[in-house]
This record gives sequence, C-alpha cells and structure tokens, in this order.
Amino acid sequence: MHHVQQLINGQFTQSNTDEWIDITDPATQDVIAKVPQTTDSEINEAVATAHTAFQTWRKTPITTRARIFLKYQALIREHMDELAEILTSEQGKTIADARGDVFRGLEVVEHAAGIANLQIGDFVENVASGVDTYSVWQPLGVCAGITPFNFPAMIPLWMFPMAIATGNTFILKPSEQDPMVTMRLVELAIEAGVPEGVLSVVHGGKATVDALCDHPDIKAVSFVGSTKVGQHVYEKASKSGKRAQCMMGAKNHAVILPDANKEQTLNQLAGAAFGAAGQRCMALSVVILVGEAGDWINDIKAKAEGLVVSAGKNDKDLGPLISPQAKARVEHLIGTGVDEGAKLLLDGRGITVKGFEKGNFVGPTIFDNVTTDMQIYQQEIFGPVLCIMRAESLDAAMDIVNGNPNGNGTAIFTQSGAAAHKFQQDIMVGQIGINLPIPVPLPMFSFSGSRASKLGALGPYGKQAVQFYTQTKTVTARWFDDAASQGKVNTTISM
Ligand code: NAD
Repeated sequence: MHHVQQLINGQFTQSNTDEWIDITDPATQDVIAKVPQTTDSEINEAVATAHTAFQTWRKTPITTRARIFLKYQALIREHMDELAEILTSEQGKTIADARGDVFRGLEVVEHAAGIANLQIGDFVENVASGVDTYSVWQPLGVCAGITPFNFPAMIPLWMFPMAIATGNTFILKPSEQDPMVTMRLVELAIEAGVPEGVLSVVHGGKATVDALCDHPDIKAVSFVGSTKVGQHVYEKASKSGKRAQCMMGAKNHAVILPDANKEQTLNQLAGAAFGAAGQRCMALSVVILVGEAGDWINDIKAKAEGLVVSAGKNDKDLGPLISPQAKARVEHLIGTGVDEGAKLLLDGRGITVKGFEKGNFVGPTIFDNVTTDMQIYQQEIFGPVLCIMRAESLDAAMDIVNGNPNGNGTAIFTQSGAAAHKFQQDIMVGQIGINLPIPVPLPMFSFSGSRASKLGALGPYGKQAVQFYTQTKTVTARWFDDAASQGKVNTTISM
C-alpha cells in the first residue's frame, strides 16, 4: 500500500503518526493509498524549517526565483499525462477534465515565472527638496495554504508558486481526499529547484488546519473550500494576527434571454451544470429562463440525457462524486427537492455503471419550478443537479441573482449588448460570463469571487496575490552633500 509522504526541510519522509486516512478510487471504492494525519511535532518542525529557510530565500535574487518557475512549467508540461492519470484515479473526474485542472494551474506557474515584472514598487523623486520616497514589496515570511478536493492540481498551484516567487516560504496542506497529484506536483517543484525548507507539505484534516491557523510563526493563510470551513479558518487565522483569504462555496446562476444563440447556450449550460459531476465552485447550478426561453426546457433535458456517466479513466462526460458520503448527501438533497414540490424532470439517482457498480455515481438531474425557499436552491449541492427557475424579465431574473448571498460567478446568455451591459453593471457577483459559462479569470487578472463566497479583500492568484503575499515598505531618503551639511534643528513637521 502506498503511504503518501510529507515534505519537511526538503526531505520526503513518512510520518510517525499512527493515524492514517484512506484514499479511495471514487469509481471503485478500492483503497489506493493512505495519507497521514501529520503530528503536531512534525507540523512544528515544518514551520521551523520554513522560518529558517525564509532568512535566505527572501534575499535570493528575484531573477533566480523566477527561473525556477520557468523550469517548473516545462516539467509540468512534460508530465501532463502522468499528472492527469493520478488525478483521475483519486478524484474521479474525466482524463480530459483532469488535464484542464493541471493546465489552469500551469498558467499560474507561467505567471509566477514573470514575477520580476509584477513585484515592482514605486519611486517618487523630490517629494521635498532633495528627498525621495520609494516603496518596496517585501515577502511576509512563512505562509500556508489549505486546499479542497475538487481541483487538487489547479488550486495548490494558485497558491505556492505566487507565494514562493514573491520570496515567502510555504506550507501546503492538500485535501486529505486526493493528495497524490498534489504531491507529484510538489516533487516536480523540488526537481525544478525550489530549495530546502522553501516549500513543505503537511497532511490531515481539521487538526492540521487548526494548528496552521494558530501557529505564531505563520504570517498568512490562503484557503479554498466550503463556506463553513472557510469562515472558521478566516476567524481563527485573523484572531492570531495573520493575513487570511478564503475562497468558499457558491450558487452560480445562468440567466438565459430568449434572443440567446440557442445551440451554443444549451451546450455551454449542460457542460457547466453537469461537467466534473457538478463538483466545481463555478458550476452553473441554477438557470433562470427569461420569457420565451422557458420553452427551451425540453432541449435542456435532451442535452443532459445525451451525457454519458462513467469512470473518469474512460473519459466520457461525467465521472463519479468524490465519496459515498458526497453521493448520499446529493441524493438526499434531490429527495428534499421532490418533497418540497419542485418538478423532477430528470432523476440521476440510483444509476449503475457497468464494471463500476460500487462507484459514487449520480447522473444528470434536473428540477423545474424551483423556488428560492427550497433546500435545493439554498444549499450548494455540489453534484450534477440543475435547478430551473423562470422570470418574466431580465430585471426579475437579476433580482433573484442579487437576492442570493453568494457571489462567486454568474453568466448571461443573450445577443443584446444592452442587456449584457446592464447585467454586467448591476449584478452583485464577482465573476461574470457573457455568453461564457465558467468565467474563471486567467492569472493576468485575479480570481474575484465576492460576498458570501469570499472572505478577505485579495484573490489567490494574479496581481492581487502579489499584494496578498507582500508587505509594502515605504522609504523616505535624503542624502546630504558634504558642502550642504549645515543647517539647524527643525522642530516642525515640515521637511
Ligand atoms: P472542505 O471545506 O470540506 O475542505 C477544504 C479543506 O479544509 C480541506 O483541506 C480539508 O482538509 C479542510 N477541512 C475540512 N473540514 C475542516 C474543519 N472542520 N476544520 C478545518 N479544516 C477542515 O471543502 P471540499 O469539500 O474539499 O471542497 C468543496 C468546497 O470548496 C465547495 O464548497 C466548493 O464551492 C469550494 N470551492 C471553492 C472555490 C472558490 O474558489 N471559491 C474553489 C474550489 C472549491
């Protein structure tokens, strides 16, 4: 049995713990590896070595730091097939989607390789006579990252490349449900030249997360995961004086106007509602059909019925959910939808996949006549379940979206520039797609979920991550000519 290692002080080692968590293949329930609950003393050792490494890493030339990420991006490309295969075996998503997961992280690595263009301060000459002021963006120290199960490649890569490129050292705590692809990415980072102690990995669940949030030598925590845990992490980390950012749960609405390009819209909607078995924080899980777009209901159902569910490695349309518990939760929520009066148009419960009878499969599921008081609307289902609502007008649809507390993503489908402009201006959601279903920004921008989907002002990659992982230091300097070194005591604040 493979035992997942931890990385402390540049060494991949097995934990001394006697608590091991099973990692299972979601398509079969086979236990494929075990991951440790890292002990307190191992966590402390990881932080101590990261703290020591920071003293030299922060002064390592920015060009040296950047070049590591040039090499790293090449290594990730070289190992793309292997990474996707590992990811699918433990997470369940299709191979094509697993490659996308790695690729979206790779884009952040490419961005980190340009760090010297990003970590540039300001300079103003002669703020007073002979006085200059400049600011530099200095790294914070030891930072930590806590990641969810649904993007085990992309989300760790949102975090440690930018943190390390800006001169920090980093402790990563991957999801205990699928840490193996994350570990392979970490091995490649070490191969690319990340020095001893600059990147460490500890494992486990709540105990590890709490220890990282409380540790006095950790300066910042980046978290991606569910709303409940994110709120806990934000509160705990902030209380102990850390900078914290938490990207959390979502309920993303698509608004479809009757003038939208029908075929394009339906294809994109089906992909975004059911792809990755709905286990994306940017999944479109609610669609509001405006006016005559309400007539498209059977076409939406037909698209969903055309999707094939199978083990991820068979590379069809949808893989299994991450765990039997996740499957039971999703099926329970579908049951509440029926009980609370929504119309079940397509029921994905109880499906079996030949050859994978024990898999955590739920097929595409569609509810019509969903109302805002139902549990299927109020909770993030995180499964392949689409809730359909109707609205008389764009304004009425926007009222529904703005009335939902979450603010991760939303999309409008229309051929009207005026409608799209109104939507973009007045919708209170941090990431908007116009005729585009999952508008996750590339790293020249930043991930910008908002309201209940995010705590902390700054996003996890892009320009905002450079700010998150650095402290601005402002220097005001005057140099005297020897000949001018006269003058007298000045007790006022003027210069
Ligand atoms: P999760 O909150 O259960 O786990 C996230 C991390 O927190 C894991 O590393 C886990 O070990 C740890 N954790 C779990 N329970 C904990 C506890 N009680 N105390 C402290 N730490 C704990 O999330 P998940 O199920 O792995 O991921 C799915 C969730 O993540 C969804 O809600 C999804 O919307 C969200 N997500 C959000 C974004 C975003 O950018 N907004 C991106 C991806 C996923």
